[in-house]
Amino acid sequence: MSDDIQLKSHYELAIVGCGPAGMSAALNAKIRNKDFILLGGDFCSPKLAKAPHVDNYLGFSNITGEELRQNFLKHLEDMEIPIVPLKILNVYPGPPFTLMGANESFTADAVILATGVSPTKLLPGETELLGRGVGYCATCDGPLYKGKKVAIISYSKEGEGEANYMAEICSEVIYIPFYKDVGHLDPRIIQKKGRLKEITGGMKVEKLVLDNEEIPVDGLFILRETLPAEQIVPGLEMDKGAILVNRDLATNIPGLYAAGDCIGQPYQLNKAVGEGGIASLSAIKFIDEMKK
Ligand SMILES: Cc1cc2nc3c(=O)[nH]c(=O)nc-3n(C[C@H](O)[C@H](O)[C@H](O)COP(=O)(O)OP(=O)(O)OC[C@H]3O[C@@H](n4cnc5c(N)ncnc54)[C@H](O)[C@@H]3O)c2cc1C
Repeated sequence: MSDDIQLKSHYELAIVGCGPAGMSAALNAKIRNKDFILLGGDFCSPKLAKAPHVDNYLGFSNITGEELRQNFLKHLEDMEIPIVPLKILNVYPGPPFTLMGANESFTADAVILATGVSPTKLLPGETELLGRGVGYCATCDGPLYKGKKVAIISYSKEGEGEANYMAEICSEVIYIPFYKDVGHLDPRIIQKKGRLKEITGGMKVEKLVLDNEEIPVDGLFILRETLPAEQIVPGLEMDKGAILVNRDLATNIPGLYAAGDCIGQPYQLNKAVGEGGIASLSAIKFIDEMKK
């Protein structure tokens, strides 16, 4: 992973997600000599790494997900394709599209979403209270919660940095981790465990309800590996939780394509890799036609 890459203000193509679908899209963009950026989480991809044994990927008869992941990363390295470890929080339609991380933004003529799917369902109350005290990036909204009480639900270590930052400014920070081996947390942070039931509130969030207690909060942040696609892109058409695409893997927004698990089942590597390639070729065609 490349930590030291300077973001440019504009790219022809932005690929959001560095799993098999995103990596495959990047490969095609490189071969077609496009000016593109491949963006991912800290680890590409946790799902692939977890596959204990893959026996349905053509050409590799006896391989683990982690071995395949290393092969994919090596292929990108050989092709000199860096992965920029930046989580994209919002994509505002264009072209040019505006892509926003927690502290950075840039534009792109076309975008491919390859963000995978979250293994966790949205909580009851989450969609209704989103933007009313419920959010997906604690550090982005931090200043709004100065001197207030917040809870952070995190599915990966990435949440620890956000919680430590909030501990500097909030009166109380509750941290509810859903992963093993919690690392360094500011001693002011209170850790809790419990099964998530719902989020309650009216005009603003009021409580996070666990199976074993109710926690009154001013703000609540849910840090999943993958954000709901319709929250990333306003106006994105979905169908039963999957991004709606046509045969070219174009979404309802011109210039925006999607590939892999995020466009629906079956959740398989060969499908993700194939779709990454198709989405890339479609996006390249869009970019080339736009320039004519
Ligand atoms: C335990 C397990 C075993 C499996 N075994 C098999 C198997 O044997 N055979 C098979 O075919 N499939 C298997 N699969 C399924 C396979 O792993 C998935 O279908 C495949 O990984 C999907 O690829 P993807 O690129 O669509 O998404 P993912 O692999 O989920 O990758 C998405 C990537 O996008 C990143 N991302 C998400 N949101 C953002 C954002 N907003 N900004 C930046 N980056 C973002 C994530 O960090 C992640 O790295 C298995 C899955 C699991 C969990």
